Amino acid sequence: MQRMMRLIDIGANLTDPMFRGLYRGKQAHADDFNLVLQRAQEAGVKKMFITGTNLEDSKEAIESINSHKEATGFLYSTVGCHPTRCSEFDEYKDGPDAYFEQLLDLALKHPSSVIAIGECGLDYDRLHFCDKETQKKYFRKQFDLAEKTNLPMFLHNRNTGNDFYDLVKENRHKFKHGVVHSFTGTREEMQKLCDLGLYIGVNGCSLKTQENLDVVQAIPEDRLMIETDAPWCDIRPTHASYAHLKNIPEQDLTLYSPPSKKKEKFEMGLMVKSRNEPCTLGLVLYVVASLKNKDPKELSEIIWNNTCRVFNTV
Ligand SMILES: [Zn+2]
Repeated sequence: MQRMMRLIDIGANLTDPMFRGLYRGKQAHADDFNLVLQRAQEAGVKKMFITGTNLEDSKEAIESINSHKEATGFLYSTVGCHPTRCSEFDEYKDGPDAYFEQLLDLALKHPSSVIAIGECGLDYDRLHFCDKETQKKYFRKQFDLAEKTNLPMFLHNRNTGNDFYDLVKENRHKFKHGVVHSFTGTREEMQKLCDLGLYIGVNGCSLKTQENLDVVQAIPEDRLMIETDAPWCDIRPTHASYAHLKNIPEQDLTLYSPPSKKKEKFEMGLMVKSRNEPCTLGLVLYVVASLKNKDPKELSEIIWNNTCRVFNTV
């Protein structure tokens, strides 16, 4: 029997209430968090990095890791503040410096579970949550977090022209490694980031259109990482990536894409339609392997090594 591929999900929003059955504040079904973890393990996901999107969320992620004893060596978390949440620095009861110190403290006190600083960056698609100047100001601050903790950076960038690149370049000396997750930019943007020594994180959102696929195909193998961004960014039949799933062997497909039901018809043990989960990570791997005309298992080992090199998990 073929040995299963080992995978690392570098971006899973596991503190999202959907994994507890809560959708927009309403309990739609029972909490099936443990089954989500179990399905991931069965599908060869050996490590998962929970995305910390603000101070509270990062704390919650670390608490959840510390409360699952089987999480040791399996679940990790980032600590940081997402660009759309950066007004929290200014709104914090004791001021922005205290918010920064809290993030720093959290990252330093939990060395075995904190894997990176982030997610942080810029997002000009959602300026209604936080204006450009505030985003830039506190993105800059988070390079200091990386410098003070010696941790790699988990970076987010959406539609920011050259601003993201310029800020990263200006602060490049403050951190050793970084990955630009959920990449949806152009080939030129990808190349410039790789030239800065950064890695590129690919998920279902990075694989929606033919243009996306052409960019992903061109990512150098030694710069590549994969993620689900669960519960978001699932691969859908309307996406350009979908056609690349046809060569997945049946036994892998049942692990990477288990049966699902709509949340209204929830059944314990099944996936929930359109709530993405880490167990689908193998689908991303297969699409990228197909684009690169590469043996999936061979590619999975290259990605595994890239990820361990950056995040220091082994
Ligand atoms: Zn993001």
